[in-house]
Amino acid sequence: MFENLSERLSGVFDRLTKQGALSEDDVKTALREVRVALLEADVSLPVARDFVKAVQEKATGQAVTKSITPGQQVVKIVNDALVETLSGEGEPGALKIDNPPAPILMVGLQGSGKTTTTAKLAKRLTERDGKRVLMASLDVNRPAAMEQLQILGKQIGVDTLPIVKGEDPVQIAKRAKTQASLGGYDVYMLDTAGRLHIDEELIAQAAAVRDVANPRETLLVVDGLTGQDAVNVATEFDDKIGVTGVVLTRMDGDGRGGAALSMRAVTGKPIKFVGLGEKMDALETFEPERIAGRILG
Ligand code: GDP
Repeated sequence: MFENLSERLSGVFDRLTKQGALSEDDVKTALREVRVALLEADVSLPVARDFVKAVQEKATGQAVTKSITPGQQVVKIVNDALVETLSGEGEPGALKIDNPPAPILMVGLQGSGKTTTTAKLAKRLTERDGKRVLMASLDVNRPAAMEQLQILGKQIGVDTLPIVKGEDPVQIAKRAKTQASLGGYDVYMLDTAGRLHIDEELIAQAAAVRDVANPRETLLVVDGLTGQDAVNVATEFDDKIGVTGVVLTRMDGDGRGGAALSMRAVTGKPIKFVGLGEKMDALETFEPERIAGRILG
């Protein structure tokens, strides 16, 4: 669907200097194409602009290597800069879950894939890291969401906190903590209520749960196909609740991953995992190289 950026750039460079160093004009011309590619990949305009400016400073004056074309060289510089921006500190996908039972708070809008991601991550922690995990749904307004987590728990063989009617989210969080301690669990995951939009009640509820659970990780689940909206959601959740990492879902879709770059550039939060489908094993560690390749096309 999209023309490959390297091909597009080599067209531009055919008309330009083929030897010596990359001149400012060469780089500018090439970066115009890069900016278009970033925007097509759904990177937000201010982020694309800042990114291109930073790359321009880095690329201008660089010696042109004989073995590759100037176009390929600019693509490499851009690719390296993308990887650098996308990379978080520490090992990708690492979670602070020492000192059992470690609480993980899952937050996000309804429909973002929060419950699915909670179960996927529980499965990963169980099977890959050998952790004993307890999951609890705090979505008291949507009994279907609570049942969904029970069903997923059965399916993947991970325990869920029994549903007790009439409890509020804070009571459920406290019960999860007690059960996790008594039951010898390593991790307990709190799947908070989601709503279609961020509103005061949603934030107040998540903040109250955060205050009793004192989570080791607060993971924000966002739909990777929603571009700029995903970034706005992340900024707001981080301001109001405090987020330690992001999970981008629906990265198996048609989107080209630009939300990941905007997310990192704007919020500075590490993207820990990506969701790549509806199945329970469709969760992977976030890999900057892969997303960079996808953004560049
Ligand atoms: P919640 O309301 O945020 O808890 O959202 P759910 O976990 O119920 O997910 C909503 C829908 O999105 C479900 O049909 C999931 O199977 C689907 N979903 C979740 N994550 C992904 C993903 O990474 N890729 C795809 N294609 N679908 C996903």
